[in-house]
Amino acid sequence: MEEKIEQLLGLLTLEEKIGMIHGAGLFRTAGVERLDIPPLRFSDGPMGVRGEYPDDQWQYIGDGTDLVTYLPCGSALASTWNRELVRQVGTVLGEEARGRGKDVILAPGINIKRHPLCGRNFEYMSEDPYLTGELAVQMVQGIQSRDVAACVKHFAANNQETDRLWVDTQVDRRTLEEIYFPAFRAAVEKGGVFALMGAYNRLNGEHCCTSRQLLDGVLRKQWGYDGLIVSDWGGVHDTGLAAESALDVEMDVTYDFDGHYLAKPLLEKVRAGELSEGSVDRKVRNILRLMLRLKMIGPGKESRKTGAYNTPEHQKITLETARESVILLKNENKRLPLDSGKIRSLAVIGGNAIATHAFGGGSSEIKALYEITPLMGIKKHLGGNVTVRYAPGYAEPQLGGRPEISWQATSTQAGQLRPQEPVATPEQIARAVAVAKECDAVIFVGGLNHDYDTEGLDRQDMVLPYGQDQLIEALLEARPDTVVVLMAGSPVEMPWLDRAGAVVWSYYAGMEGGTALAEVLFGAVDPSGRLAETMLKTAGQCPLTAREGSVAYTEGVMVGYRHYNRQQTDVQFPFGHGLSYTEFAYENLSVIGREVSLTVKNVGHRPGQEVVQLYISGPEMQQLRGFEKVFLQPGEGKTVTFLLTKEDFSAFDTEKETFLPVAGTYEIQLGASSRDIRLRHEVEIPAFLG
Ligand code: BGC
Repeated sequence: MEEKIEQLLGLLTLEEKIGMIHGAGLFRTAGVERLDIPPLRFSDGPMGVRGEYPDDQWQYIGDGTDLVTYLPCGSALASTWNRELVRQVGTVLGEEARGRGKDVILAPGINIKRHPLCGRNFEYMSEDPYLTGELAVQMVQGIQSRDVAACVKHFAANNQETDRLWVDTQVDRRTLEEIYFPAFRAAVEKGGVFALMGAYNRLNGEHCCTSRQLLDGVLRKQWGYDGLIVSDWGGVHDTGLAAESALDVEMDVTYDFDGHYLAKPLLEKVRAGELSEGSVDRKVRNILRLMLRLKMIGPGKESRKTGAYNTPEHQKITLETARESVILLKNENKRLPLDSGKIRSLAVIGGNAIATHAFGGGSSEIKALYEITPLMGIKKHLGGNVTVRYAPGYAEPQLGGRPEISWQATSTQAGQLRPQEPVATPEQIARAVAVAKECDAVIFVGGLNHDYDTEGLDRQDMVLPYGQDQLIEALLEARPDTVVVLMAGSPVEMPWLDRAGAVVWSYYAGMEGGTALAEVLFGAVDPSGRLAETMLKTAGQCPLTAREGSVAYTEGVMVGYRHYNRQQTDVQFPFGHGLSYTEFAYENLSVIGREVSLTVKNVGHRPGQEVVQLYISGPEMQQLRGFEKVFLQPGEGKTVTFLLTKEDFSAFDTEKETFLPVAGTYEIQLGASSRDIRLRHEVEIPAFLG
């Protein structure tokens, strides 16, 4: 491969090479026709392949051929805790991207959820680096099995939208190595990812997209990464830095393609001898290597997979994933599942029962071929014997009507403004309550939408918008048996939680989200989603805030449950939490050498899946180090085995610049959440490691 790269490189003129390293369209570089080198075609994003833009206009082509499979968002994927499913979702994404003629799909987004108010948290997977890394590897390999490059983003420490292009995050080395790097490192070292996107923000003073320390030092040297590094769109601010750093391709949101830092300005500097042609060659080598890997050029060209989109198989995988992403947060007195045989009339209340979410959120917006809303899912599930009555209870802004020109055209210039928020009127609430009173059962479906879970803007607080809290209170007052369903991309306050018997959580779960939700509510599917993030009672319980200018990550490694569980914060729902309709017993813990095994048994009356979680709780904190999802029939038991390694008891030693075991007493914990530990075993380090 390297020989072929050098051979091609030798044939390219300086102008041709420079054409390959910057955007020549909003989502492509220039090819070199005379040498049969095609342009490199990118597309967003994590929830499916984005609609088609012309080269120089932030306005969808709109010929109706770019409707696609809408996949569950990153947070929904992580809630499944199911490696195999996430791999399949990756396969779908890769296949659809290829089917749409793309080479690089700008996904998955694997930043750590440092703070619950980050507007893009819905795109990301978890507050935990291990869980994120495990799933990212699967997603990457799934995508790349279809001759398309995955592009993990945004490297690194990109955890807020406030001042996103300029904020300087100050993070110490140990925290980077233990919290913000591991998922990227796993994607590189275990996943073999072909592409990576730099982040908009600065990290310890340097812009991530052109950071010598981050891209050259960590990524290329430390991890030996030889894949493509692409900037975030508009993330480059200097020609010299971009040329000399390990960045390969500069992309931007503007139409002035010749004006990109790595376009004409670079050409002039190279010609003037201010910058070397060697720096251009280094980038072109990586691009050619990617093209060979993807069979875009070279001998394998004819056998490159063709891909496909909107296949029934893709919709099936989307549905299976949505099913496993639904989280049963609370279920007092077994209020759920609802028995459809006993219900003649059902009240469905709330804006998210009828809202669609695919086409929102920023660059991850998707033109879905279809999207089953909760109300449609419920009606579809119940069929003709139940009368379903709907009342909104509050008026949500119409999300369908988007401006012609995408917000992205000016996304690197000004801050976004939050739209006006209409609040539930007393009449709307009264009408909803009246409908609720007249029916046999009541389901409220509220939550957030992409006016809140969005790129470019962080939330101000965790309060449900549109006066939903008042509406829920009124419903619970009139009908204490109201089932509360929240569909959102990030946690919300639940001031009425004590009075609500049943609470179900769904992230934006893709085009079959409504189908999956109905199946869980009526018991056709056992809820097996588990929280991949802590749900706080209020945002104020998180000691961190998003700020402009500069943000010091003084909390260090104590992010998410690492902090809350140690402080014993009175959280709403802990990391790892999620109920099932059946019950599981954890038995027979055995620790032989470094092998930990246990039996998990379904002791209830329904089939179900349990997510067995392994934590190592050490002198400093508790950390997830293993998980396994097991399906069990009633009465059935299975043995689950984990093999512990020295890394599981290690911390990053900044002096020795490597991970080293830390001596002390540790507890190996096995449980159903980070706070529901069922089995424990104490070990001494280093003795345990032998
Ligand atoms: C986002 C990226 C996205 C890119 C291209 C940027 O605004 O931060 O995640 O891939 O645009 O649309």
